This record gives sequence, structure tokens and C-alpha cells, in this order.
Amino acid sequence: ADPSLAATLPQFQSTPLDQIPTIIDTARSAFHSGRTRPLEFRINQLQKLYYGLCDIEATAISAMSADLGRAHFETSFADINYTKSELISMIKNMKTWLADENVSEGIPWYLRWSHQTYLKKDPLGVVLLIGAWNYPWNLNLVPLFGAIAAGNTCILKPSEISPHSAATLEKLFEISGMDKECYRVIQGAVPETTLVLKQQFDKICYTGNGAVGKIVARAAAEFLTPVILELGGKNPVIIAPSANIPVAAKRIAWAKSLNSGQSCVAPDYLVIPRSLETAFITEFSKVLNSFYPTGLRNSPDYSRFVNDRHFNRVHEILKTTSGEVKIGGEIIDPKDRLMEMTLISLGHVSEGKWETDSLMQEEIFGPPLAYIVYDDNNLASAVDVVRKMSDTSLGAYVFAEKKAEQDLVLNNTRSGGFCVNEAFVNSIIAGLPFGGVGQSGTGKYRGKWSILSFVHLRSVVVNNGGWVDWLIGFRFPPFLESNYKV
Ligand code: NAD
Repeated sequence: ADPSLAATLPQFQSTPLDQIPTIIDTARSAFHSGRTRPLEFRINQLQKLYYGLCDIEATAISAMSADLGRAHFETSFADINYTKSELISMIKNMKTWLADENVSEGIPWYLRWSHQTYLKKDPLGVVLLIGAWNYPWNLNLVPLFGAIAAGNTCILKPSEISPHSAATLEKLFEISGMDKECYRVIQGAVPETTLVLKQQFDKICYTGNGAVGKIVARAAAEFLTPVILELGGKNPVIIAPSANIPVAAKRIAWAKSLNSGQSCVAPDYLVIPRSLETAFITEFSKVLNSFYPTGLRNSPDYSRFVNDRHFNRVHEILKTTSGEVKIGGEIIDPKDRLMEMTLISLGHVSEGKWETDSLMQEEIFGPPLAYIVYDDNNLASAVDVVRKMSDTSLGAYVFAEKKAEQDLVLNNTRSGGFCVNEAFVNSIIAGLPFGGVGQSGTGKYRGKWSILSFVHLRSVVVNNGGWVDWLIGFRFPPFLESNYKV
């Protein structure tokens, strides 16, 4: 981070431990006060948040630049603009999404006009949102919109790993004029989060790695609190024999280079047919040169690693791989936390080298991209690699012009989201629910899916009058044999 820029930004400060239980108790009392129940209150709070977002936007862009060394365009595209449009959509549609839903199926005809049956979308109570650092607005605020719209009071715990962004989020809450008892930010790292997790919530939404996901799920289980876990994984890209290689190379390079690979939906490894390997390497190299014509070091468009820990982790993977570097692999500067986009061959699928290589043991979350080659007439062997390595990843991508090849991959793999001839974009389409499956998490949010995740669908039955007991009086004892119809 540029120290002179960092000095001008809101400064991160952990919330004192002794204040944490009180903040959460206050949010619970605020929920029980009933003031988040009226829809007008919630809309008004979200409108305030929107104007706050506009006011603090420039600071947030600088904060993300200080934390992630990220280009302003990338921040605007994947964080700021996306988040703002989600909020506008939530304010516009929440009344419809929250409307009661009449249910008529399964009710005997003679009760249809005597009973009303419907689903009411009730707030859950106090919601805890624990966010990640790589897209600080998107990952912290988008689930928050749904939690507020659903009528909950909310505690947001951003990641301390992007401290300026976390401090800017706290500032946002302050300046927006939102109700301070209902909506609060708690800052901190492991000690603070551990204490937060000892308190009772009505739903927890956690975004981050699976190891901490288990800690969160265990803590939630103590109170039988339901969880949304937004985790990561090794997202595979299968290039099928019919793929358009220039298109595939460009889109994969884009999805992988965003935030220098530090995206939960970034391509993690490729599986490439033998006949397209050379063409792919050539095109991938061309694309990277066109993305960064002045070189990575000088490009304002290429992000750095968020911290030394993540840099060293990925550097270690690179140092220990037995793969053959085809592109890049040289510009590695620990001081600048810069690592070049790197394409590495792990050989043919039948050699089995890929199964034990360091590049295939955990999610990369950085620029290196490994690939494995398969025989053109055996797309099923590419699917087998995916099944073996990352069966339930957050994203899975196929590049194929032939529908049969697209379908073969779609219908024989599992993942949170799936793209055909695309990568990454499954995470930024507001109308689609976002979430994982299996190891990549549970639960989903965005738009109306957020509403469904942060409400309780309460079944309501209303009996319309005393005369109904005459109609269905046979249910009361003493039971008469004559009423039995077998
Ligand atoms: P992180 O280390 O910032 O952790 C996320 C949150 O967990 C933070 O708020 C942090 O304070 C908290 N935390 C960390 N250790 C804890 C502990 N011991 N006890 C309680 N809380 C703790 O983020 P990360 O894990 O480095 O993020 C990267 C991972 O997150 C990758 O696996 C990535 O794929 C995944 N991710 C998933 C999504 C998604 O939407 N599915 C989005 C972004 C990142």
C-alpha cells in the first residue's frame, strides 16, 4: 500500500472486546422493539445506505487500492458499481419479493373458502455477517442488503486483512444515518470474531475459507443457528475439442487476472485437449501482452497480493511444483507482492502427475494457472479429473462450441455456479443466486434469493369463522363410526 494514500484513509481499529456483547444485545433489543418490522423503515434505512455509498465511494476506491493495489476500474466494475446496482434493485423490488404468498395446493375443496393459507416472510432476528477481504464492498454489503430488507437487525464483521476497506465500511455506517442500534460494524481479527461467535444470533452468513467455515458452523451449532457459508474451492475450466481458442484464452485470462487471481470464482486449473494445447499457449500469451502492454510491473491494471502470508503461500506452491512453466513464472517480487500470470503444464492426464502436484492440493487464489492435457476423443477423462479434484467447487466452466460437449460437462459435474464459454461472471449477475454446494458452501444470496435466505417462511392458516366447525365438526370426539370412509 502507498503509505501517503493510506494515511488519508479511515483507520482500522478493533472493537474493544468488552463492548462486543453489549453491541449485540443492543441489536437484539432493537429487533424486539419491532422497529424493523414496517417495510417503510427498512426501505428508508436502505435509501440512507445508498446515499452513504455515494458519499463514500471515492474513499472506498482509494481504500481498496491501498489494501489490494487494485486498479480503480476493477474496483468500480466488480465491487462498487455492482454493489450499488444490487442495492437499487433491492429497494425497487423488495416490496414484491417480501409479499405474502397465497398457497392453495393440498387444501380440501370444502376448506378453500373457509380458510386462508399463506406464507409470510418474517424477519429472523439478529443476523451476523462475517465478510472476506477480496471484494470488500460486494462481499460485505450485498448480503447485508438482503438481511436489512428482510427486517433483521445486523452486525457486520469485515475482514481485518483489508483494513482500510473495513474501516471505510464502518465509516459508511456512521455517515449514512442508519439506525445505530439496529445496524453495527464490529472490527477485529480472531479474538474479536471468536467472542462474537460466542453470542447468539438468528442467522450467520460467513464468507471466507473452509477451515474457518467449520469454526463458524461449530459455533453456530451451539445455538442451533442456521448458517450461510460462502466458501471457495478449485474451480475447473474444461476446454472441449470444439472450443474457440482465441475466445477461451481471452476470457480465461480476464477471469484469472482480475484481482490477480484472488477471486473465489477465478479459474483454478484447466483441462485442455491435446490438439489445442499449443494454440492455447500462443493465444494466452498474446492476450496477456495485450492486457499489459507496458509489462506487469508498470501496469496500473494488475493487482498485488493482499499480504505477505498469501504471497508466500502461493510462492511456495510455485517453488515446489513439478510442472513445466509455459508462460511467465519469472517476475516474482516479494517486496512488491507482485507475481506474474503463469501458465504451467502438469502433463497428460494418464501420467497422473497432476494428482500429487502442489498446484492441485489447495485453492490457488493467485495468478498461477495449471493445466492438464487429455485426448481429444476422451472428454469424459477431462470430466473425471474434475470429479476427482474439485467435485463441488464454487464455479465450473466449459469452453465448447458444440452443445453436446457443453451438456456432457454440465450434466456430469457439480458446482455452485456454471458458465458456458465464460468464467467468473456467474458471481456478478444479480438475478442469479450466488452460493456454493458441498465443500464450496451452503446457502445463497443476491436479489430475491437474499430475501429468501434472511426470512423465515412462516406458514399461516386463518380460519374464517365459527360455522367452519359445523362443516368439519367430525374431527371432534366422540368419533362416529359412520364418519369413517375407508
Ligand atoms: P479471511 O482470512 O479474511 O477470513 C474471512 C473472515 O473470517 C474474516 O472476517 C476473518 O476475521 C474471519 N476469521 C479468520 N480466522 C478466524 C478464526 N480463527 N475464527 C473466527 N473467524 C475468523 O479470508 P480468507 O479465508 O483468506 O478468504 C479467502 C477464501 O475465501 C478463499 O478460499 C476464497 O475462495 C473464499 N471466498 C469465498 C467467497 C464466496 O463468496 N464464496 C468470496 C470471497 C472469498
